[in-house]
Amino acid sequence: MSEPLLQHAPRGLHVYRLGLRTRFRGLTERDGVLLHGDAGWGEFSPFWDYDDDEALAWWRAAREAADEGWPAAVRTSIPVNVTVPAVDGAAARAIVTASAGCRTAKVKVAEPGQGVDEEVERLEAVRDALGSAGRIRVDANGAWDVQTAIARLRVLDRAAGGLEYVEQPCATVAELAAVRRALDIPVAADESIRRAEDPLAVVRAEAADVVVLKVQPLGGVRACLELAERVGLPVVVSSALETSVGLAAGLALAAALPELPYACGLATAQLLAGDVVTDPLLPVAGEIAVRRPEPDASRCREHVAGPDLTDRWLARVASATALETLARGDDA
Ligand SMILES: [Mg+2]
Repeated sequence: MSEPLLQHAPRGLHVYRLGLRTRFRGLTERDGVLLHGDAGWGEFSPFWDYDDDEALAWWRAAREAADEGWPAAVRTSIPVNVTVPAVDGAAARAIVTASAGCRTAKVKVAEPGQGVDEEVERLEAVRDALGSAGRIRVDANGAWDVQTAIARLRVLDRAAGGLEYVEQPCATVAELAAVRRALDIPVAADESIRRAEDPLAVVRAEAADVVVLKVQPLGGVRACLELAERVGLPVVVSSALETSVGLAAGLALAAALPELPYACGLATAQLLAGDVVTDPLLPVAGEIAVRRPEPDASRCREHVAGPDLTDRWLARVASATALETLARGDDA
């Protein structure tokens, strides 16, 4: 689709709004902008708690997709994990069973208001549904202090029958390093990479075994490939809960990395109640085929944002464009 999209937005822009199937990281819906350029469609969907400065990287990723396209792929299919939100055991089991053959599960832990019992129940259910050969990783989104992380992870590692890794158990790089020294469980850095002034601090502190890279917050596929090279650790590519238009950029990164030893967190179209394409980037037999689906006019109409939300997004696009122009001036 290369037509002007919709009623409220100017030519080449479409503002979408989609529900989530399950509340995820405090969100019940997702919205953002699709933009069209010579190379195809890109997605600009920074979360609303990101300010204009932080959103600039997301805008660069969208512009790369729309204007330049992505580097060549070295693989055609990407193994992906199923994502299990902070649900009870029965729901966790159902999500893994319905996951189209994913052999790795990423399980949310450290949910506010929940305790270790809920996490143990969830992990036992996931292990049961996945079988002994499956891999289980947990993500605490930086919520624990070092003592809590160490004590809790010993329990969760047993409940899961072994954890592949723990993602961002604590908030700071020093805390990640302390957890990593105290336990045999590998540590993955996510927020410490994508929201950090200096992503290489993780490497200097020997704070992680794995890094999680997300295309939008890190400014595009090329920026992520360069960062991966500098970091020199195994990479897990994850989404920022995009539509299939944005997920295609994550797939392109996963497809272009020289090595890809872990399943990626790109099966998140499963979390959305709809999509803007007719052929969403969903896994088959635990893998997503590398491709780039185009937005579909009728799906876009179905999930179009109203006038107020559209205006808010157009203002964000204007701010990002202005910041980008300023940054170019600084470089010149
Ligand atoms: Mg994470």
